[in-house]
Amino acid sequence: MVEHVVVIGAGVYGAAVSAELARRGARVTVVDGGAPAGGTSGATFSWTNSCGKQPRAYHDLSVASMEAHAKLAHDVPGSDWYHEGGNLEWGGSDDECERLRRKVAMVSSYGYEARWLTRADALRLEPDMNPAQLPADEIAYFPAEGWIEPTRLIAHLFSTAGVERIWHDAVTGVDVSGGRVTSVLLASGQRLTADAVVNCAGPQADHIADLAGLDLPMRNTRGVLVYTSPAAVSTSRVVHAPQVHLRPDGAGRLLLHTHDIDGAAQVLDTGEISVEQTAVDRLMAAGRALYPGLGAASVESIRVGERPIPGDGLPVLGRAPDLPNFHFAVSHSGATLSLYAGALVAAEVLGEDRTGELAPFRFERF
Ligand SMILES: Cc1cc2nc3c(=O)[nH]c(=O)nc-3n(C[C@H](O)[C@H](O)[C@H](O)COP(=O)(O)OP(=O)(O)OC[C@H]3O[C@@H](n4cnc5c(N)ncnc54)[C@H](O)[C@@H]3O)c2cc1C
Repeated sequence: MVEHVVVIGAGVYGAAVSAELARRGARVTVVDGGAPAGGTSGATFSWTNSCGKQPRAYHDLSVASMEAHAKLAHDVPGSDWYHEGGNLEWGGSDDECERLRRKVAMVSSYGYEARWLTRADALRLEPDMNPAQLPADEIAYFPAEGWIEPTRLIAHLFSTAGVERIWHDAVTGVDVSGGRVTSVLLASGQRLTADAVVNCAGPQADHIADLAGLDLPMRNTRGVLVYTSPAAVSTSRVVHAPQVHLRPDGAGRLLLHTHDIDGAAQVLDTGEISVEQTAVDRLMAAGRALYPGLGAASVESIRVGERPIPGDGLPVLGRAPDLPNFHFAVSHSGATLSLYAGALVAAEVLGEDRTGELAPFRFERF
């Protein structure tokens, strides 16, 4: 019988798994080598979506998680981490427009809400955008999408979970005996005995798997996030323009992002990460061109996040067949997925059969 579960990692996945385990009556200890939300969950665009996710099972998991976010935010009085403002998106070249048409057709065939807007429609939603930056039509609008503030969500999940929390003490060993994990060793020397362990270590999930003798292929990438100073600009949704992706980030700040400058983040010999200033300037210029009201805003901070991407791009969820009390909860798009996917994993840890939903995402496919 599973009584005590050790959860490794206190990002969105660790928080979601811990909260669900505790809600179901397990004793939970969550361990993080740093602070909660100190990993990727503290440096993410955190757009909640299922925009073009393939195959269908991945799309369905994302939609279920978007619904879980909306439900949790609705059920918790005063919740402040979930924003369902929708997402506007348009292409800047013939190829991009064609890709967007295919995406809208695909998600619509899945029953996912997507509409085509004209420039005038889009300006009614986001009146501070510069009309000259918008096409006359073919602006896609996905009304059920939005974004979360992962740090606020994580704080909520841990505040209600009643879990034992150990911060700033990394997992350095996983003890295995008789085909089962028996305990987890921490840098401090503390050894935590466990009936089950859940690997929620994000970009370091391959390292934790390796400690347990399992090989998890990962192909992580880095992304650059630019946070502006507060500006009196009206925005209330996610916008994907050709040169810049942006969304509000609280107190008048905007968060700017684009995959085009992923390569601007470099790891120095010292281990520090630096970001090319010209790339940041280009992104800010694109943001100001789209929202002229950002003219006086400056760059308040720059963060570099590491996307935890399993080898084939799909989530890795559920138990390891050769080590049946060792479980995975690892994916990209974790801001979207973790609330629902984490709850599925927690249910399986405690013996519930979630075979159907977890089948496409199991570790044994590698
Ligand atoms: C630039 C960028 C943009 C993104 N945009 C989106 C988006 O728009 N929508 C979306 O859904 N997702 C997005 N993502 C992905 C999403 O943010 C991640 O999938 C999610 O945050 C991962 O959460 P996690 O809990 O798995 O990992 P993390 O938040 O990294 O948490 C893992 C934790 O494990 C801890 N840990 C690691 N090793 C050890 C150890 N040995 N011992 C103890 N603790 C350990 C770390 O300290 C960390 O706190 C984006 C990511 C990036 C980088």
